[in-house]
Amino acid sequence: MKSFVLYNSELRRKVEFVPRLAGQIGLYVCGMTVYDYCHIGHARVMVGFDYIVRFLRSQGWQVSYVRNITDIDDKIIARANENNESIQALTGRFIDAMNEDAARLGCLQPDEAPKATEYIEQMQGMIGTLINKQHAYTAPSGDVYYAIDSFPQYGRLSGRKQSDMQAGASERVVLDDEKKNPFDFVLWKAAKENEPAWASPWGNGRPGWHIECSAMSTHCLGNHFDIHGGGGDLLFPHHENEIAQSEAATGETYVNYWLHMGFVNVDGEKMSKSLGNFFTIRDVMKKFTPEVIRYFIVSSHYRSPVNFSDAALKDAKLALSRFYNTLKAVDASAEAMQAWQTATIDAVKAHAFTERFNAAMSDDFNTAEALAVLFEIARDINRALQSGELAEAGLLAAVLNHLGSILGLLQQKPQDFLQSAADEVEASMVETDILAAIEARKQAKANKDYAGADKIRQDLLAQGVALEDSKEGTTWRRVEA
Ligand SMILES: [Zn+2]
Repeated sequence: MKSFVLYNSELRRKVEFVPRLAGQIGLYVCGMTVYDYCHIGHARVMVGFDYIVRFLRSQGWQVSYVRNITDIDDKIIARANENNESIQALTGRFIDAMNEDAARLGCLQPDEAPKATEYIEQMQGMIGTLINKQHAYTAPSGDVYYAIDSFPQYGRLSGRKQSDMQAGASERVVLDDEKKNPFDFVLWKAAKENEPAWASPWGNGRPGWHIECSAMSTHCLGNHFDIHGGGGDLLFPHHENEIAQSEAATGETYVNYWLHMGFVNVDGEKMSKSLGNFFTIRDVMKKFTPEVIRYFIVSSHYRSPVNFSDAALKDAKLALSRFYNTLKAVDASAEAMQAWQTATIDAVKAHAFTERFNAAMSDDFNTAEALAVLFEIARDINRALQSGELAEAGLLAAVLNHLGSILGLLQQKPQDFLQSAADEVEASMVETDILAAIEARKQAKANKDYAGADKIRQDLLAQGVALEDSKEGTTWRRVEA
């Protein structure tokens, strides 16, 4: 196992990862509430944790990746009623859709995907413990609440002090007669008419949302595990509440490292249904192939906010096209392909570029930096092809393909990707065209057609490609057209 550094949201700084058990990592990620199609914020969580898991496994860690499914909550009940269908039919449909979307985005399945409705017993067990330990109380309505005043560390993760919350909350929080503190949160909701309910020691009802993650993570990974992740919007109150529930119930530390994804904005604004700038993954896949969406997500550091726009996805498509054009050029050379196919995994793993890639990813999963390494490899492949070092080009292609697989990118046949992306890349000259033009210019010069050779140079320049001649041959670079 190779060491790595990650940003722990609880400490608000980067720290070196120390496992609880040598070589093993327990990772729990809050998953989707399945009442509708996943949107691009969900795509970021799915893809982000996917490349994190792939990278950690590539470094020799044994990762147990758990991502839950919330299949009972207010929105699900409301939507099922609206549609006049059963909750099981609704959630079953959207679980299938979620799995399809995740697979198309190149995400591996989590090792476990527990559903809330299958863990009611474990949740009730934890609620019972919290009541016994006087961390929770039953209200006259039959609802059970967590008493945050019983857990002095409440606010530890978000950095919110109770006094601040109360001072700032006087207008926002409606004082509920039932609650001892306005920030007490519900663990068990008493049954209402036309709602699904389970029998419990506190009467028929259903669990609150927060308790499901405490109960399911404990069941799958133990009382105390390594990394808990999720979207940044879950840090407060959801994750704060999970800590309060789990630590009060078990008396143990809950989680060692908290990892949160940044927000997704759309054209500079927060994505929301009310602003009408809300996109499902399926909407976006109508215009862009899944790998383009994945590339767009990978190209920003997971903690940075990303700005989703057509222009950003077009950039992602262009960048991917450049990689695939390079691979297509390798594909065209039997000797380079031979070198690629015979490159050993040891040679690939020991390559200086692999080490630089690993260094970037080991520093809080810096994918932007890792992609910069991939661009350098592509540039070197093009150079090697140009100068006829075909074995070198093939070895570098093997490195590029291997590192791409860790990010979940560049695994298609070049012509398949390029065909799907053709409409967008026409406008910009691709590498194979440039190399062909350079070759044609060389031929023109050899035939003493200097006017023809010069015209090729001028045409390239008009399209933003400058040529430089030297003893070693001709190189090119992109410039403003
Ligand atoms: Zn959760």
